[in-house]
Amino acid sequence: MFVDVILPLPLYKVFTYSVPENMQQQIGVGFRIIVPFGSKKHYTAIVLRIHENAPQDYAAKEVHSLIDLFPVVNENQLKLWEWTSFYYICPQGDVFKAALPSAMKPQDFSQTYTPKTETYLRINPKIEKKYISNLIGRAKKQQQLFDEITNIFVEQSVEVVSKKELNASSTALKGLLNKQILQEFSVETGRLNAENNAVRQSYPLNEFQQQAFDEITNCFTEKNTCLLHGVTSSGKTEIYIHLIEQMLAEGRQTLFLVPEIALTTQLTKRLQAVFGNRLGIYHSKINDQERVEIWQKMLSDAPYEIMIGVRSSLFLPFQRLGLVIVDEEHEQSYKQQDPAPRYHARDTAIMLAHLFGAKTLLGSATPSIESYYNAKTGKYGLVTLSQRFAEIQLPEIRLENTKELRRKKQMKTLLAPALIEQMKTALANGEQVILFRNRRGFAPMLECKLCAWVPKCQHCDVSLTYHKYRHQLMCHYCNSVYRVPEECPACGQKNLEMLGLGTEQLEEEVALLFPGNTIARMDTDTTRGKNSYEKLITDFQEKRVQILVGTQMLSKGLDFDNVSVVGIISADSLLNYPDFRSHERGFQLMTQAAGRAGRKNRRGTVFIQTAAPEVPVYRYVVEGDYESFFNTQVAERKLFNYPPFFRLIVVVIKHKDENIVNEAADFLAERLKLSLEKRVFGQNKPIVSRVQQYHIREILLKLEIGLTLQSVRDILKSAEEVLRMNEKFRSVVVFYDVDRV
Ligand code: ADP
Ligand code: ZN
Ligand code: ZN
Repeated sequence: MFVDVILPLPLYKVFTYSVPENMQQQIGVGFRIIVPFGSKKHYTAIVLRIHENAPQDYAAKEVHSLIDLFPVVNENQLKLWEWTSFYYICPQGDVFKAALPSAMKPQDFSQTYTPKTETYLRINPKIEKKYISNLIGRAKKQQQLFDEITNIFVEQSVEVVSKKELNASSTALKGLLNKQILQEFSVETGRLNAENNAVRQSYPLNEFQQQAFDEITNCFTEKNTCLLHGVTSSGKTEIYIHLIEQMLAEGRQTLFLVPEIALTTQLTKRLQAVFGNRLGIYHSKINDQERVEIWQKMLSDAPYEIMIGVRSSLFLPFQRLGLVIVDEEHEQSYKQQDPAPRYHARDTAIMLAHLFGAKTLLGSATPSIESYYNAKTGKYGLVTLSQRFAEIQLPEIRLENTKELRRKKQMKTLLAPALIEQMKTALANGEQVILFRNRRGFAPMLECKLCAWVPKCQHCDVSLTYHKYRHQLMCHYCNSVYRVPEECPACGQKNLEMLGLGTEQLEEEVALLFPGNTIARMDTDTTRGKNSYEKLITDFQEKRVQILVGTQMLSKGLDFDNVSVVGIISADSLLNYPDFRSHERGFQLMTQAAGRAGRKNRRGTVFIQTAAPEVPVYRYVVEGDYESFFNTQVAERKLFNYPPFFRLIVVVIKHKDENIVNEAADFLAERLKLSLEKRVFGQNKPIVSRVQQYHIREILLKLEIGLTLQSVRDILKSAEEVLRMNEKFRSVVVFYDVDRV
């Protein structure tokens, strides 16, 4: 008997081992086993298949031992791993590593998961009561402690007490233990919170929500995936809750996927209020021991019925999955960057649901172009919710033309006068303000200060980046190089300058403008600590902070009820990022940010400061016109061969030696051009071209959707193989980023 196994190593191949007689009765698919690998090492592997065929090209080693006597990974999970590895062109071992909590895949023999225990105390049952006071004697502290314990026993009619609850002096306790009056023993307790029961019922849906709900359930009779396009605060979450209730009634599980950042917000609490401990939570702050417990619970006969989690929760062992909800489906953080598997959680969720015969609901106020396109073309269902809940009005959005204001010498600070005025009124009324200043990427950009003109690539329709040491403009998609113009080609002024205005500078200016108010800044610098993000949010929520200044992380899924003014400072930089998705991102960010205003009390005002108000995307944001916005984007994407019309794969090549990385990238690009021809762009030097001593080069592939992934994969793998035949390139790192965002 032989088994094919997956090892937690970056290997594309599966390996075959022979199964010793004594294990043949027990072993099964999805079991963890220990296998030897290499000359000395042993690894935890997962059984993928059991068969009778000895490997052709090597002598199979024997399985060392079994860890489990039951599967810890089910068939659907194995299929998902296989799909992920296939679609995202990465080793299955990498998927295995990402999927299983690390304590479940020890490299040595013992299981590193240690159950959590709690120490309890009881009175030694073998000791007769009448001797106790003799034994204690004149030790006063011991007598006190003994009395305290007996009191607890009487009052609570219990016979044991937890040591940590007792709060006893350690010497007194030691005395009683030494005298054998008390006994210690430990009990295994779960780390999972067992309390936390539901505190409320779901709210009844209003008529618009009910209609959307009906449309969704209706849609699911025909389609497997449905997109819910609902404006901010339309009550999408409440609709999700009702759908989850329906799943519970059918005895099926729900996976509720959220982008990492939103988890710390009210969302989890809201779900917990309704579902109590039927809800499991899985995110990056959950430690590895807890992950193991969650995994085990999901395997048990009483698994969580609902799981809220970030992208890796896709890999949990669901048993009866009925529904996957992908909240804020447009969020780019759903795509894993590093390490492999570089999967997109939204797309992988759809595959997961498919494997279970389950449905997927994508929800967003600002859907991704890809998802909306799929909905428009009938691949997904589409349900629209355009009313905010409880007739709260969408905010008024005003464009402040900073170019005009500058010309009139009215821009004395970073803030337009109208914004300053409105802020003053709001603060005087005890209302709060949020200001956004985007600072993204490392890309230095050139911009005309006067007319906001930005240099663009003629071939790619993306903004160019400025390379200082060569004093050149470059397209990081196709590597075209351009001269830096002396003056602005649009307005003729010599006003070209580097972009780069951080939140820090904004915070300083605001502090000067609004003395006496508390200002807080939220960006990656200020939220590094474990709870700093939550603390900032709580401070703002509890009105200890009046003005919150921050980057885009502020716009995500937060629900404040006292914000009446939102300002987006120099919005242009959102749009000029060198990426074909920059307008989509800009639209999403501005719309989501605007959604933070006036959620409960009254209509809020949003100020968008731009030097180029004529750029159409601003009009679409102001008018809340997603449809027109979508149409312009789709037209452009079609014209320039971008998704959803083409699939993008980026081949990433890394090496410590710059010459080698260059040669390898050239070699690969040439090789790929032999079969893929004009679909190959580059090699290119990415904006960040050296990370941790590794030089990075990229080759962009634009592939027709009709091209099968299998054929592309074969071409890539064989090119890589040929590359590696050259001794010089052995240690070059090559990986693929499929559907890069
Ligand atoms: P979205 O997810 O679309 O941004 P939410 O679900 O957060 O919207 O709803 C906005 C607000 O309205 C929340 O405070 C929520 O509690 C409230 N709400 C939504 N639907 C209902 C309902 N049916 N009954 C009572 N309150 C509701
Ligand atoms: Zn270009
Ligand atoms: Zn200009």
